[in-house]
Amino acid sequence: MRRILVLGSTGSIGVQALEVIDACPDLVACGLACGTRRHEMQAQARARGIRDTVCAAGGGSLPATDDLAELIDASEPDLVLNGLVGAAGLQPTLATLARGIPVALANKETLVAGGALVAEVQARTGAALIPVDSEHSALFQLLAAVPPERVPAIILTASGGPFRGRTIAELAHVTARDALAHPTWSMGAKITVDSATLMNKGLEVIEAHHLFEVGYERIEVVIHPQSVVHGMIRLDDGSVMAHLGPPDMRVPIGFGLRWPDAPPQHGQMPLTGRTLEFMEPDDQTFRCLGLARAAGLAGGTAPAVLNAANEVAVAAFLDGRIGFLDIAALVASALETVAAGPGNDLEAVLGADRAARAAVDEALVGAAR
Ligand code: NDP
Ligand code: MG
Repeated sequence: MRRILVLGSTGSIGVQALEVIDACPDLVACGLACGTRRHEMQAQARARGIRDTVCAAGGGSLPATDDLAELIDASEPDLVLNGLVGAAGLQPTLATLARGIPVALANKETLVAGGALVAEVQARTGAALIPVDSEHSALFQLLAAVPPERVPAIILTASGGPFRGRTIAELAHVTARDALAHPTWSMGAKITVDSATLMNKGLEVIEAHHLFEVGYERIEVVIHPQSVVHGMIRLDDGSVMAHLGPPDMRVPIGFGLRWPDAPPQHGQMPLTGRTLEFMEPDDQTFRCLGLARAAGLAGGTAPAVLNAANEVAVAAFLDGRIGFLDIAALVASALETVAAGPGNDLEAVLGADRAARAAVDEALVGAAR
């Protein structure tokens, strides 16, 4: 029996992870954490006889906290599924790996903000990090099939989001409601907006860089509106290997929860009658992809700044306080104003995160005046 602690159990990933766990006789949820929706979490815990829960806003069986170390110790997991959203996921990932416990990681912000910290703790304890993000789950499986020297580049696919093909003028007046209508995936609000700006793919480029130790010049992005091909690798003989699957997060979640054992079975994906398209991303219109690449190349705390600025800007967009194009503008200006430092020191990373949030907050107050 594999005991799984589900962080972010009330979210899109968390709810689907519990579905996968409920359907697998050899998996059991041993603890839950959420941010605010305590009643939903308590109902999840009651239905499964789970004793150890934390709600960051209060009302779990353990004291309210953002520091989930006590929950990890109390619930004694064999694996932690990190389905938290934002940089709040970084310290729980580090605390888990530091205890030698593997992490199934949906929370890509962990690697964006703290990739070097994760590498350091993994080198110390040897604990595994298994990607749950669909593109990275695909790449993880493709890369396991081929010797690394045969792979000149890896390719992430992006749906392009609801605004694919729009011009800057057309994007000036789109609303949060428009952005939340994603064509192929049903996800939490923050990642849905990130998909619309292409910041999600930018964060995923940085995530892939850390997960697979691949240089940025070897990570390509293609738009693929059907979201059926999740990842591809270029081979040295000019061919490309692709991983296809239905746009259903329960597939990569199941893979991550049961790895290195065989994943749970799913129905076969129908293939006939499909058209698969691939096109260049429009990074002039969707600036966040380029901003993320630049922050990744700059290294140190620059990706933590990018990520934190984006979190605050996306929240402001969801509140109707700024326009869609302001998200990229606020992130760009935070990257210019917040000085970057070394990324292998937790205090420096957390300090950069705070400074970026403060810079965007200040810009928002200035704009409202
Ligand atoms: P949601 O917003 O749906 O869920 C986030 C979860 O985190 C909720 O349970 C929320 O609790 C909880 N949470 C937030 N802050 C805290 C905190 N400080 N302490 C404890 N719990 C907290 O997000 P998603 O499930 O969509 O995404 C989760 C992660 O997975 C993100 O990093 C995203 O990028 C990634 N991902 C998601 C995919 C998807 O299909 N949804 C696909 C690929 C990656 P509450 O709601 O109670 O406040
Ligand atoms: Mg993804």
